Amino acid sequence: MNYPVAPVLPWQQELRHVLRRPEQLAEYLELPLALFSAAAAEEFELRLTRHFAGLMAKGDPDDPLLKQVLASPMELAPSPGYSAEPLAESEHFSPVPGLVHKYHGRVLLLPSSQCAINCRYCFRRHFPYREHQLSRSQWQPALDYIRADGSISEVILSGGDPLSLADKQLAWLSETLAELPQLKRLRVHSRLPVVLPQRVDEDLLGWLNDRRFQTSLVLHINHPNELSAELTAACERLRQNGVRLFNQAVLLKGVNNSAATLAQLSEELFAEHIQPYYLHQLDRVRGAAHFRIADTEAKALYRELRSLLPGYMVPLLTQEIPGEAAKTPLI
Ligand SMILES: *Cc1c(COP(=O)(O)O)cnc(C)c1O
Ligand code: SF4
Repeated sequence: MNYPVAPVLPWQQELRHVLRRPEQLAEYLELPLALFSAAAAEEFELRLTRHFAGLMAKGDPDDPLLKQVLASPMELAPSPGYSAEPLAESEHFSPVPGLVHKYHGRVLLLPSSQCAINCRYCFRRHFPYREHQLSRSQWQPALDYIRADGSISEVILSGGDPLSLADKQLAWLSETLAELPQLKRLRVHSRLPVVLPQRVDEDLLGWLNDRRFQTSLVLHINHPNELSAELTAACERLRQNGVRLFNQAVLLKGVNNSAATLAQLSEELFAEHIQPYYLHQLDRVRGAAHFRIADTEAKALYRELRSLLPGYMVPLLTQEIPGEAAKTPLI
């Protein structure tokens, strides 16, 4: 089978053809099906794009990209202290549906529950999205909330993956937001350009290139192998359309917990004009314990990373502590 390298389809069709069956991925990568746990995939569906699968090495159960999507039996091991919603977002910080307001001056809007890829370590893997899927009229309370709070100057489209939504809807949302004079910045948090670079098409650039906003896109790339030629080309188009690019990564055991790998990631991001922004210590979400490295180890790794890079290439190592006024530096 040569499934993932078949002709590239428009992104909407690619999204409909994401890999969801462990058998497909095991067969393509020439790996034993026993690596995958049906029970883990039952709890959080296996899901990845053909593009992302195509970046993996065949026959390597330790491939750093595979690890990020592999529904592993380890997810089912008991993990005290890990919960369904470690950040208590939906309960404590969502004053109106579809909106999370935790930090001064910026709010998250959650326009889509979908992702093109299910990252096993995702802190929103158990998020009750169904309560948050909104039609146009249902966005009104969120828009009113922003309008009523003059301190909000930035809207962040987050997720799920906001770019899994159709551009028509995203254009509507951004147009509507642009009518709120207090808003200066529009930011998109998305992994879609990484896992499906053809998502960056004319329609997307059309609404993103709105001169009423200072626009930025925060990508999510954890390992240098995710930086494909297609992604690089997409980033170039984004930059040409006035979009500033940042990256956040999550510190993941078995994926990027080495200073050399993280230094290489920063160097390659910088070469593509993507500013390394955050390196997150893993949130304690149920099913992801096997990805977490201890804080002491994370700090040691980070010190080593800083010794390898110019300061402007070092992302900020942070953890999320519910109730704090910002993401909290680990050091
Ligand atoms: C991370 C985050 C933001 C953005 O924080 P920045 O430090 O501005 O990148 C905003 N709201 C919530 C709820 C967040 O988790
Ligand atoms: S929200 Fe981001 S980290 Fe979570 S599954 Fe989707 S793409 Fe992955």
